[in-house]
Amino acid sequence: MADPIQVDLEKCTGCGLCVKACPFDAVTVVDKKAAIDERCVLCSACVQACPTEAIRIERREVKVDLSAYRDVWVFAEVGEGCAKGVSFELLGKASELAKELKQQVCAVLLGHEVRRYADILAENGAGRVFVAEHELLARYNTDLYSTVISGLIMKHRPNIVLFPATKLGRDLAPRVAATVGLGLTADCTGLSIHDGMLLQTRPAFGGNIMADILCPHTRPQMATVRPNVMPKPVPRRGMKAGIVDVPVKIDQKSIRVHVKEQVKTCAVGGKKIEESDVVVAGGRAACEGDGFEVLQKLADELNGVVGASRVAIDMNRKPKSVQVGQSGITVSPKLYVVCGVSGAIQHTVGMRGSKLVVAVNTDPGATIFEFSQYGIVGDLFQVIPALTAEIRKRKGR
Ligand SMILES: Cc1cc2nc3c(=O)[nH]c(=O)nc-3n(C[C@H](O)[C@H](O)[C@H](O)COP(=O)(O)OP(=O)(O)OC[C@H]3O[C@@H](n4cnc5c(N)ncnc54)[C@H](O)[C@@H]3O)c2cc1C
Repeated sequence: MADPIQVDLEKCTGCGLCVKACPFDAVTVVDKKAAIDERCVLCSACVQACPTEAIRIERREVKVDLSAYRDVWVFAEVGEGCAKGVSFELLGKASELAKELKQQVCAVLLGHEVRRYADILAENGAGRVFVAEHELLARYNTDLYSTVISGLIMKHRPNIVLFPATKLGRDLAPRVAATVGLGLTADCTGLSIHDGMLLQTRPAFGGNIMADILCPHTRPQMATVRPNVMPKPVPRRGMKAGIVDVPVKIDQKSIRVHVKEQVKTCAVGGKKIEESDVVVAGGRAACEGDGFEVLQKLADELNGVVGASRVAIDMNRKPKSVQVGQSGITVSPKLYVVCGVSGAIQHTVGMRGSKLVVAVNTDPGATIFEFSQYGIVGDLFQVIPALTAEIRKRKGR
């Protein structure tokens, strides 16, 4: 098969502009002619730089019968004795998409003794549940999980496959995408149907713009979605799904990774920030003195957890597991008290799903107030202890 990138030696003048343009150092000039080596990723920078149109890329058209792909699949993540909340969030969104496409919602359930979760997945929107059970699937393993799911995708040809953008999902989804030879839109914050295709929306360029992504030529369309971005559906009690038993054969020798120990990281008190109803978050200002201890006292009164802006993580004041925002966790608590945080977009993308936001900031012009129902202009070292004392008083303590 001819190389997809070719240099027309008649037209090439050996000017070297293509060498300068190539970000991958894949172009050299040999005997006054451009030569392209295996580092080329077909980005076409050299094509655009060439003044004589001597470099050509032949994009081979992938012809896929799109109509052969049906249904919206959700990888249902389970763990610690329950189906994870994000699985329901994805099923809720999948139901909306499937309704518009007039297709079915299917859940994919992998593990050991996981069949018992099929009913709750059905109550949250799954019409069909693929159940792959095996002792060796009890603990997540990239190779085994991706092999089983890729096999299912190739056999059943879903139209859309959604994964949670959890640690597990972020490991699994790219591996599946690479195995089936497709792209993947990571960390979507919005999904809808546009001209029969999945419109995948995600922040780009450091969160400064929202990019809309379509896959017009290939199927399935695959995306990961952050937890706490999509609302959970209202469960329809008593709903049942069709169960498809997936035979799983595992060769022990194929397991390349052996987990020796699992270490749990979570906020003080054992509650994860993404699952807490109340988050009291601190920014740069809380890094001063005993700022985070002050916030912790309020969080304790409200039975919540303390979160932080990235500055506090960079300053080693809080662990990464409580960072709220684009490169941290997305939260949607009932109450988000945010103190000494300016309101940079990279922070607000991670908290704007909160039901009620109370912001405390000394600067009346701080952007965070635009994301808050209640704003208190003041010093957190005065406002928060006063709030904590008032709550204690009202509790009769
Ligand atoms: C690619 C990328 C990813 C990023 N990801 C994240 C992310 O996930 N999460 C995140 O948070 N940031 C993230 N950032 C950083 C982000 O851009 C901001 O720099 C950061 O959010 C600012 O943190 P801050 O609001 O705590 O600090 P600042 O912007 O310095 O704001 C401090 C605020 O405290 C107020 N203040 C000062 N003293 C007091 C006081 N005594 N009482 C009350 N208020 C006071 C000030 O008026 C100010 O508004 C990211 C940046 C990049 C480039």
